[in-house]
Amino acid sequence: MNANLFALVETSVTDPARPCLTDATGATMTYGKLLAGARRYAAALVDLGVTPGDRVAVQTDKTVQSVLLYLGTLAAGAVYLPLNTAYTPREIEYFLGDAEPTVLVCATAARADLAPIAAGVRHVMTLDADETGTMVTAAAPARDFDTVRRAPDDLAAILYTSGTTGRSKGAMLSHANLSSNTLTLIDAWRITAADRLLHALPLYHTHGLFVALGSLLLAGGSLIYLPRFAADDVIRRLPDATMMMGVPTFYSRLLAEPAFTRDTSAHMRLFISGSAPLSAQTHKDFAARTGHAILERYGMTETNMNTSNPYAGDRRPGTVGLPLPGVEARIADPETGAPLPPGETGIIEVRGPNVLAGYWRNEAKTKESFRPDGFFVTGDVGRFDADGYLSIVGRDKDLIISGGFNVYPAEVETAIDALDGVAESAVVGAPHADFGEAVVAVVAPRPGAALADTDIVEPLRAQLAGFKRPKKVFFVDALPRNAMGKVQKNVLRDTYAAAFTEEGASC
Ligand code: AMP
Repeated sequence: MNANLFALVETSVTDPARPCLTDATGATMTYGKLLAGARRYAAALVDLGVTPGDRVAVQTDKTVQSVLLYLGTLAAGAVYLPLNTAYTPREIEYFLGDAEPTVLVCATAARADLAPIAAGVRHVMTLDADETGTMVTAAAPARDFDTVRRAPDDLAAILYTSGTTGRSKGAMLSHANLSSNTLTLIDAWRITAADRLLHALPLYHTHGLFVALGSLLLAGGSLIYLPRFAADDVIRRLPDATMMMGVPTFYSRLLAEPAFTRDTSAHMRLFISGSAPLSAQTHKDFAARTGHAILERYGMTETNMNTSNPYAGDRRPGTVGLPLPGVEARIADPETGAPLPPGETGIIEVRGPNVLAGYWRNEAKTKESFRPDGFFVTGDVGRFDADGYLSIVGRDKDLIISGGFNVYPAEVETAIDALDGVAESAVVGAPHADFGEAVVAVVAPRPGAALADTDIVEPLRAQLAGFKRPKKVFFVDALPRNAMGKVQKNVLRDTYAAAFTEEGASC
């Protein structure tokens, strides 16, 4: 049997005339056209010299063609490497050096900036928001293509996560990782060919790519495919949908709209949230407004989805539910790794067919992330209650999640510390009405240096994606440190907890 995830999509298509994807213009693509398009992309990639196992790096807007490019990459037996559109050329340079892709696909406008740093990449192709580009042209001619055979453990994708030391790690996801988790989710959330999912998530992240797109395709359902989240647009399209997946920010933004009413979502079957904590208050406000209990689940790039509140049963606000079938989850003592009983807080560890094979070309990190018995150390801190529901109570290593995107303080601090006049800095997250958390920088200037906010924020524009840049900068004489010399981030978090409460969503 061919374990290629694309082969699974092919065999699950029973009726090529069924609608698969309706874009923002209202144009609908059938499953037959989707498969044919993916095969054209696979053939075009092979023409460019892509062989099984080669990486195809993609930094493009969310387009219909980018779905075909993703599936075509799988069909060709290559490894899909999506990159956040917010990444600057400086950031992309690292990914290209680490992953050594054969092909890079980017926007035409970015090509001039990326070409010099992509010297080692055989082909730099383009794909633009208007669905045109050299990659689209190369994939235009109708072609037959036999999906390349892949073994279950062969790589389907590499998704980079940020590193706490500022270095990103490539999570290696196999065909079996993705197919097993997708089939589990279809079952757990009862996704069928009758479902129409409102898709407003980005396509470069596990949530939009594997969870949302992946599960609908394998279930034979269809997508209302929007380029981005805009509350008014979503409210307008909801009457055509049966389900939606989003980050908590989507739901709080919908609640901020008076036009989002019980009627708008009366026919909806399911709202799902993940990628960042959904506050119990948002869960309750949403239920009061719409009558729907948002189903919260928990996953990460490295593991796909691990736990979920039940479809039928109690969806408990402030929890991420129960381990999914086939996934084992336990709480471990952070120091000793010893399993802890329900009620006790520790590091969440998971094991199952969903869990990554390891980090790309990073033996040391891979070794460090797995226990000898195969459990993966997530770095999230949580506890189980007596009924087996998991709550996430914090994050190891001070990860900030802003608008669903991970920000690792060390990366931002390193960039700030390199600026003129800065003695040292610390970056923490502060609660933000719109983004969940937003980045706050606390900066100690060098003696005699007169710094303003703009001296910090402006130079970072060329270096860091917008979601990583500080939304507020505070100046202090010195950072608070404990007796061991470590910066007391908990003190900073408390001090600046109200940094955004006055401006709220306008920030
Ligand atoms: P990513 O790899 O970008 O998907 O980020 C994964 C991280 O997001 C996890 O390790 C958690 O810290 C966080 N996360 C994902 N889902 C949830 C959730 N439902 N509640 C709280 N944190 C979450």
